[in-house]
Amino acid sequence: MNEKATDTERIENVIIVGGGPAGYTAALYAARAELEPLVIEGFQWGGQLQNTTDVENYPGYKDGVMGPEMMAEFRAQAERFGTRFITDDASELELTDGGIQTVRVGKDTYRARAVILSMGAEPKRLGIPGELELGGRGVSTCGVCDGAFFKGENVAVIGGGDSAMEDSIFVSKFADKLTVVHRRPEFRASKIMQERARSRDNIEFLTPYVPTEFVAGDDGKIAKIRLQNAETGEEKELEVGGAFVAIGHRPRSELVAGQIDTDDEGYVLVDEPSTKTKLAGVFAVGDLVDRTYRQAVTAAGSGTKGALDAEWYLRDMPPDPEEHWGTNTGAIVEAVETAGS
Ligand code: NAP
Repeated sequence: MNEKATDTERIENVIIVGGGPAGYTAALYAARAELEPLVIEGFQWGGQLQNTTDVENYPGYKDGVMGPEMMAEFRAQAERFGTRFITDDASELELTDGGIQTVRVGKDTYRARAVILSMGAEPKRLGIPGELELGGRGVSTCGVCDGAFFKGENVAVIGGGDSAMEDSIFVSKFADKLTVVHRRPEFRASKIMQERARSRDNIEFLTPYVPTEFVAGDDGKIAKIRLQNAETGEEKELEVGGAFVAIGHRPRSELVAGQIDTDDEGYVLVDEPSTKTKLAGVFAVGDLVDRTYRQAVTAAGSGTKGALDAEWYLRDMPPDPEEHWGTNTGAIVEAVETAGS
């Protein structure tokens, strides 16, 4: 049986890779600038907000909004002005310095004069037994999203940074007792966040312990965490009704690693305050570049910057009429290749 691969010769103005608040906002601005953006939005479009319940800190939603609903609205607003979407994951990017940018989605190939990278970030995982299996059954990576489900429970927050403190402070409003488990006696979190957490009566600190397993009870939900003392090797168990893993985030920059500059943690480096990477025509926005703020509203603002940077780049770099692909810019010339047999 033949497998069909689409290799459209159309040269897009701009392809946006990633469909979270940054990507959709970039699409909205690019669409309103009549650039007809194409968004490779991911199979699980909507980004991290797709796994979030109430969002109460996005301006304009005075009564709050559910994360997936907000992303559907972002998407629809971008679509209204002519954005097109591919609901699948980009599998390969071939980036050039000022030339044509190529994005592959499985066997399909798309090309553009500019690309806005907005692949976002994902929570880091401990990589221990039970962590993934008990996701949604007591183990969460977002205290601020899921804390309210743990009313009256004993819970643990794993981590020693500001995220762990923020999650602890928030979740302790609902939980009966909360234990912050951290692998070192010293905390990376800022003094003020630590003090806020320490000032709450129902928060305890347990160090230096490393979780080794999340264990389910008879009801299939988390019942305890196995811990090991990082200095002595001593083992102990902590009975909990919930566990929040707050050990940082990992930018999803694998597809562009080695092609553009990233920092030691993989965050894409841009020429701030712009969204320009070291390659002309390649821009990066949202959590992919932001190790600090990582909010929906900051990501959306960054998406705006990316779209404007791309628009200005395209305005100042008109296609070379001699350029092979230039004659097809904006035109739909689709070729369907037959690959394999
Ligand atoms: P982070 O600062 O990188 O802290 C991650 C924490 O998790 C560290 O304490 C680290 O331990 C621990 N950790 C990492 N991998 C681990 C593992 N495999 N097992 C056990 N523990 C592990 O990340 P973050 O807390 O998400 O903060 C990221 C940035 O956002 C920071 O700049 C922070 O200030 C900012 N932020 C600010 C706020 C706020 O001000 N409201 C809130 C959230 C985040 P070690 O310390 O031993 O490495």
